[in-house]
This record gives sequence, structure tokens and C-alpha cells, in this order.
Amino acid sequence: MNKQTIKDLGNIKGKRILVRADLNVPQDDKGKITDDNRIRESLPTLKYLLKKGARVILCSHLGRPKGKEEIYSLKPVAKHIQKLLTAKEGAIITPGVIVPAYKVIMAKDCIGPEVEAQVAKLKNGEVLLLENIRFYKEETDNDPEFTKKLAALADIYVNDAFGTAHRAHSSTEGVAHHIPAVAGLLMEKEINILGAAIENPKRPLTVIIGGKKLADKMPVIDNLLNLADTIVIGGGMTYTFIKAQGGKVGNSIVDDSKLEYCAGVIQAAKRKGIKLLLTSDTVAADRFANDANRRTVDIFNVPDGWEGLDIGPSTIQAIKDVLRGSGTIIWNGTMGVNEFPNFIIGTREVAKAIGEATKAGAITIVGGGDSAAAVAHLKLTKKFTHISTGGGASLEMLEGKVLPGVAALNDKK
Ligand code: AMP
Repeated sequence: MNKQTIKDLGNIKGKRILVRADLNVPQDDKGKITDDNRIRESLPTLKYLLKKGARVILCSHLGRPKGKEEIYSLKPVAKHIQKLLTAKEGAIITPGVIVPAYKVIMAKDCIGPEVEAQVAKLKNGEVLLLENIRFYKEETDNDPEFTKKLAALADIYVNDAFGTAHRAHSSTEGVAHHIPAVAGLLMEKEINILGAAIENPKRPLTVIIGGKKLADKMPVIDNLLNLADTIVIGGGMTYTFIKAQGGKVGNSIVDDSKLEYCAGVIQAAKRKGIKLLLTSDTVAADRFANDANRRTVDIFNVPDGWEGLDIGPSTIQAIKDVLRGSGTIIWNGTMGVNEFPNFIIGTREVAKAIGEATKAGAITIVGGGDSAAAVAHLKLTKKFTHISTGGGASLEMLEGKVLPGVAALNDKK
């Protein structure tokens, strides 16, 4: 990465540092955080800055609030960060009393006089977590006035939110134009690992694309036709490719407006000598439900009234064969309806096979989103070289785009 990082900052003792992190964690109905991975991934940057005596002003979005809705408050996140910073290194423990190594204070808002007063009182080694930045519509509008107020809170800006780096919002892009702006450690890790896998991969490079929204993944497929040695297409997108070749796919999910596109991809892959591995058999269901009747059928002959909800055993075997010889594997999108336990088998088997490839020396990357959630659900997280925290951002990197949140940072000297 040719951008400066927090390691390039000189003496930051007493400096006010605005850190944009991705703390958008899932919560249950009672507000309990159900997966704190994104918070944990943000800790190395926070600890690095705090240890050097910086005053950290932390900010993030949470969900998609329409205004200042309490259910989208970051208060539970502040408590959780405090717990993690207290429990880990640096904590001063006297008998019976745990003194937080680094104090985490919840801000009253994101901008305005109250927050300014809280920032003014902030001590070295303390964190002030601003309220959900999307409580302000100005954030997503990248509004210049809002951006200026946000930037005025700090001396330096650190972007560690890879998950939102593909968005040009105030806190992800705008502020970088007002104060010195560098990348955090998570951002650096994400860009370096994914960037190397795309630009200079250990070959052969196999990319597995799944999920159902073909239109969203088209720019990725187009770019992969210039990058990958093998493209595997699974999940709900497959059926449009099969129908484009005259296959009968029953009630399976199909985007009829993209038949010509799919036929073009098949031709382009042939022309360029890229292996395009499409699903050959599918586990079909007689309705869209976990407990539907199911049977494995040739994907070109799905019976009327049935729909393919997972890849079948022959396809799984073909994917395993390809993965075994791969130097780099990038995976984005599930192989079937992973929300239904009866149709997660393809996704599970592919995840396990990628895990085996890691052991055999391949670089293996899961591109966030649904596939990362499925890997976590299957308890296979440790089996991969890297699990990205950003589904959308990693897809845009696969499209060959420059992420605005990264582009705005200061170049390395
Ligand atoms: P995407 O947002 O494009 O990554 O798609 C993810 C969604 O695709 C998941 O919610 C899956 O349930 C769904 N999906 C995967 N395979 C199929 C399929 N064969 N039929 C319907 N939906 C599918």
C-alpha cells in the first residue's frame, strides 16, 4: 500500500486523533452484541495509538438509522470496548479493583458544543466514542459543513474502517481532505492481503463467486476475466448461466435480463483460456423452505415446479479438484441458501476444501459478507489466511476499483 499508516506518524503524545473504525456489529433484540469480530479487529489500532499517549476520538456507523434512534446508539459498543481494553494488556489490577488501562467515554453526539467540550477534557490515553455518525444524514451526503466540524475535533485522521472504505462519506473520505490522514493497522492489513492476491497472486488464482445478485457481481466477473486462472460460479447466480445455454432450470432463481451477458461471459472465458467452472448438479427443492422435499438433479434438467437451492455432490467434487491445485483462492458469496441448514452443505464443503488448501500452502481469502458469516457459523474461521471485514469493499477491489476512503489518505513520502 502506497499510503501512510499510523506507523508513519511521529510523536503523537497528547494529539487528538479521529479514528474511523467499522464498529457496525450485529446485536440481538435486547441490544446484546452477537458478534464482536469487527470491534476486536479495531483494537490493534486503538491500542497502538493509546499506548503512545494519543487522545482517541473514535467514530463509526451502526446500522441504517433514519434519525437519532436509540436502538442504533453506540453506547453498548462503548461498554464493550471498555471491557476489552480493561481485560487485556495494560490493565492495572489492585486487589479487588480493576482500573481500566484506557478509559472509554461515550460522547453525547458526533459534533456540536457538547462534544467539543468532551474533546477538550479528553486526557492522553483516553477514548471518546462519538455517537452513531449516521444519526446525521450529512454523513452519507459527505456534506462539506458537517465534514469541517468533524475534522475540527482532531489534529490527525486515521481511517481503519475497511468495511466502509468503498463509500465516500464525511467520516470515511471527506475529513481526509482537512487534516493529515493515514491508514490504521486493519486497513493496512486488508489492503495489503487482498491487494497482493489481486495484483500479484501466487498462481493459479481461483476465484469463487456465489450469492444470488448477479447484477451486483457482473463488474467483478468482468474484471476476473482479466485476472483469474479459474472462475467458479455457484449459488443463485448459476441458474442464469445455465438457462443462457438452453438449460431447463424449473423455478430456480434466474435474472432473465442477463441471459445474453452470461452467454458472453462463457464465450469470453473460452476465448481467453480461463477455466469457468459452473454448477453441474443441484440440490432442488419443491418449495423455498428448509423442510422442503429435496433431490439432486442435473442442473440442465431441473423438474418443473422445483428450484435449485444448493450445489450438488458432483459440483462439490469438481470445485475440490480445482482448489487442490490453486495457489491463491478468493471466495465471495455462498453456494446455496445458507440460511437453511439443509442447503448449507455446498457452502460448508467448499469452506472446508478451502481450509484444506490453506493447510497445503495456498493463500485463502474470504471476501466478507454472507460467506464470512457462513464461515463463522460453521466455526471454520481459523482455517483461512484472511477473512475480510468488508464484503462490499472487497468486491470493489475485485472489480479493480480504487476505494475512495483509501485514495483520500496521504501518500507515502
Ligand atoms: P448475495 O447478496 O448476492 O451475496 O446473495 C446472498 C444470498 O443468496 C443468501 O441470502 C442466499 O440465501 C442466497 N442464495 C444462494 N444460493 C441461492 C439459490 N440457489 N437460490 C436462492 N437464493 C440463493
